Amino acid sequence: FNALRDEDPEIAEVVLGELERQRGGLQLIASENFTSPAVLAALGSTLTNKYAEGYPGQRYYGGCAEVDRAEELAIERAKDLFGAEHANVQPHSGASANMAAYAALVQPGDTVLAMDLPHGGHLTHGSKVNFSGKWFHTVGYKVRADTELIDYDEVRDLAQAHRPALIICGATSYPRLIDFKLFRDIADEVGAYLMVDAAHFIGLVAGRAVPSPVPHADVVSCTTHKVLRGPRGGMILCRDELAARIDKAVFPFTQGGPLMHAVAAKAVALREASMPDFQGYAHQVVKNAQALAAGLASEGMRPVSGGTDTHLALADLRDLGVSGREAEARCDRARITLNKNAIPFDPEKPMTASGIRVGTPSVTTQGMREGEMRQISGLIARAVRADPTSVAGAITLRETGEEISSLVRRFPAYAEKVSV
Ligand code: PLP
Repeated sequence: FNALRDEDPEIAEVVLGELERQRGGLQLIASENFTSPAVLAALGSTLTNKYAEGYPGQRYYGGCAEVDRAEELAIERAKDLFGAEHANVQPHSGASANMAAYAALVQPGDTVLAMDLPHGGHLTHGSKVNFSGKWFHTVGYKVRADTELIDYDEVRDLAQAHRPALIICGATSYPRLIDFKLFRDIADEVGAYLMVDAAHFIGLVAGRAVPSPVPHADVVSCTTHKVLRGPRGGMILCRDELAARIDKAVFPFTQGGPLMHAVAAKAVALREASMPDFQGYAHQVVKNAQALAAGLASEGMRPVSGGTDTHLALADLRDLGVSGREAEARCDRARITLNKNAIPFDPEKPMTASGIRVGTPSVTTQGMREGEMRQISGLIARAVRADPTSVAGAITLRETGEEISSLVRRFPAYAEKVSV
């Protein structure tokens, strides 16, 4: 860090400022976490200097012996941890992993059945503003209006009516377990591939806190930076028979040189996730999300689908008469970082939204437990109800922020010295 401060004080200030922001408030974005100092060290290493197009032992560049070892370790660790026959650890991100998975399994113009974005799906699951919606004929399934759970009858009906080449499950804001076996059965009935986008919950799978999609899916794509607590990046798991197609789809079809510092950092995170205490962590993430959802419910913020089985909860704020956008802004002022989120069948536009999404990976990494989740739900409720345009509301937001500061001081992120 001294080198950065000497060389570029402006960026050094940003890095320190962001560290202080992360440490000084409450981080409840469901897709974020605090990586370990070891992961950060690998990310900040000289492996970033190395070009390594290709795969271990078959590179288009010389001098790859060391980075080959990093990639081999990452691959072996991923295969062991998830019981997968093959792993590709090169995707630069979750979206890159998904693009490669599409490239391996389907042709432009093919029909893809995936979850609707407003019901929890991701942009790469067929949104019209994304390659997936432009290059494929995508059909969206929804959750049921009464239960807010995936409507498996509708999935089957749509599959039979549209005969998709690929079915995708796995979501961005769906708090419940997904029945992978049922998706597999439906895919088999119509001769479709099944891809599980486990970006959000692969860390819970690693920690044995939720069932694994690996035995059921043709391809599992994921990110490595959410509950899994690794570097920002993607990964693909599949059976041996699809290995060559997946590898070619990642490189050279959708990517060039892999980010070897990120690949090494993925190896570090995968090793950390294979340690017994990671299972305790993953189970605590879920218990914390359940406690947070229950706490928000007791404050009049209805949990979508009645609760959660995972690391995230969606809260419907309509009974409080506050939009998701307004709630996000008010929480921000009280040092609580979370995001507005559409709820199923949301009457509001996505940029306004009727709900918020909260997740517990970061606060659990800090060591917080159910007691803190109850305290946090009270603080969120106070912030969401405080009208910042009134004097009383502004005071409430400031006081809530002060309480958040003293809470996070008891659970410091990066208490250990980090290099940045
Ligand atoms: N898939 C799902 C289900 C996601 O939730 C996300 C990101 O939140 C992605 C893919 C994309 O990951 P990235 O942001 O790394 O491209």
